[in-house]
Amino acid sequence: MASLFICGCDVLRLNGGEPQIALQQDIEIRGSKIAAIGSDLPLPADAQMQVIEGQGLLAIPGLMNTHAHVPMVLFRGMVEDVSVQSWFNDYVFPLESNLTPEDVYWGALLGMAEMIENGVTSVADHYFFMDEVARAVETSGMRANLAWAVFGHQGEAQLDETCRFVERWQGKADGRITTWLGPHAPYTTGPDFLKLSAVRAKNLGVGIHIHVSETAEQVALSLQEHGITPVKMLAETGVLDVPAILGHCLYPTDEDVQILSRVSAGVAHAPKTYLKLGMGEIKLQRLLDAGVPVGLATDGAGSSNTLDILEQLRIMALVQKHAYQDPTTMPVGEALQIAFEGSAQVLQMGDSLGALAPGRFADIALLRQDGMHVFPRFDPAANLVYSSRGADVDTVICNGELLMQNRKLLTIDKEQVKKEISARLHRLSQRTPGKRIAVYPA
Ligand SMILES: [Zn+2]
Repeated sequence: MASLFICGCDVLRLNGGEPQIALQQDIEIRGSKIAAIGSDLPLPADAQMQVIEGQGLLAIPGLMNTHAHVPMVLFRGMVEDVSVQSWFNDYVFPLESNLTPEDVYWGALLGMAEMIENGVTSVADHYFFMDEVARAVETSGMRANLAWAVFGHQGEAQLDETCRFVERWQGKADGRITTWLGPHAPYTTGPDFLKLSAVRAKNLGVGIHIHVSETAEQVALSLQEHGITPVKMLAETGVLDVPAILGHCLYPTDEDVQILSRVSAGVAHAPKTYLKLGMGEIKLQRLLDAGVPVGLATDGAGSSNTLDILEQLRIMALVQKHAYQDPTTMPVGEALQIAFEGSAQVLQMGDSLGALAPGRFADIALLRQDGMHVFPRFDPAANLVYSSRGADVDTVICNGELLMQNRKLLTIDKEQVKKEISARLHRLSQRTPGKRIAVYPA
């Protein structure tokens, strides 16, 4: 059993939303869990114990990305400054028809390398060829909730394929992998397919990761075609009878919020995509007041360009202040609560992730605090929200294993990833008329 002992780091804690920094702490890690945190802990007499010098570093819970399409980093920078409809129909859906399983594996590894470098230890991923993403999780050492995205037009046989993926990978990679079902969205599946998905999820004992109510147009179209909102459709088809991650949910009605307050669903919030695609914004207090968990997400790099959760954290806090025209909205503690406790709840791991405490998983990011942009160190919690950068992350631990130390990735060969992907880019960037994996309703 691997063991780590981090000496003398500062530790971020949230006490009821009040950020506190405990200085000069030691963290003892046994196997996958945190065993003890305190000042001047006795160094265990254990030859297997690896000591990490933590002086000057700030320990935070490993960041969580609650909704992503990790392999879309392959299309980073390929589609910019177009409408949502054009983004899907003219670019992303045609480009995604080029993907092979091997492309997805290398894309997933690129995305995971980027996430680890930015202190992200957990991701809820929603994509295709998910066996390859699962293999990349095995390689990278990250923790992941994986759902194979499926469209209604692919039919029941493809849904059943995704159920077999759930069974193949549930609990694999030393328990780091959780598998769910991933019907793409109400507007790309429809009520009958959602009902089938809900029955399958109940039978498998798993949750559902889905996009919902991303734009005002989607809600209007659902009301016109089905007489109910997309959220209500999820409730009526049984999707909300199982745990659910709801990507975006930017346009819930008040009734939708009431529905969500009574079920085990959390909202994955990815504000950079909303700004970039001009999708509008949600006043998050509406969800928080109703007790609906909200977590941070990047969405795919096709829209958000990076898989950097610290960037999303900052944008979220700024957009909320802007939305309410009130600088007292979403103070530092509340933003950090969403980043840590909220994201852990959205991943249905509220008791095991999102805080540094004995008994929790040893998923930890250690940030350097010697940059000029975080000096003076008057309030490290405020620095984290408003000043810190992903590049401040020095060392990353997931499930008790070191994934990066002193900025050096220990599980992924970056040069090999770049070489593999460079050789695929020409083929991946081609768009063949009429060839696309799905159609976005205009
Ligand atoms: Zn998405």
